[in-house]
Amino acid sequence: MRMEIYHSHLMRECPSFQVNPLQLSRKEKIVKGEVDIKDLARASELTNSGADKVDFCFSFGIDSDGNCCVDFQIEVEAKLICQRCLRPIEEPVKIKSGMVFLETERQEINYSGDYEVYLFPELREKGAMLSLLVVVEDELLLGWPMVPLHKKDKDCLSLSANPTSVDDKKQSSDTEKKRPFAKLDKMLREASFKGRK
Ligand SMILES: [Zn+2]
Repeated sequence: MRMEIYHSHLMRECPSFQVNPLQLSRKEKIVKGEVDIKDLARASELTNSGADKVDFCFSFGIDSDGNCCVDFQIEVEAKLICQRCLRPIEEPVKIKSGMVFLETERQEINYSGDYEVYLFPELREKGAMLSLLVVVEDELLLGWPMVPLHKKDKDCLSLSANPTSVDDKKQSSDTEKKRPFAKLDKMLREASFKGRK
């Protein structure tokens, strides 16, 4: 049971977001918090606003082989810029992943689980700390698209306002408007023909 939760106000007492993964895994702790994206120097360069918040939730535990591991979810409302229409993408970026903490390369070679391996030789040393902010930022940089694009065509200006289809509609309504005149033209021609006769 993962019952105990660190909330963001507790994380404020630990502003560097340094945690001991071994302790947290043994107690199956959940660490939740948020950070301003402007405090993540590398990640903030990718967005057009420094005011966005990054929410994160780390659930520590022990896997079936007895390794320390953590599942995490990172969510950010940062506005990435669509590289097709150059407008902001409103959808939040969500990253769900996990990692296992291994101490030696031998353990890494023998590891057959699904988690991403985080080599952490100091894991069992007293006071071994991991910066959650570094993990959050690394995952954001890995998880963000290299070329951000609107996922849905209707959100993307360059696709939703397709100039060809707009012109087609305009032409068809123009044609409709011309029809009565076409009839009138025909009537006039017939009338003049009759008149000549
Ligand atoms: Zn777009």
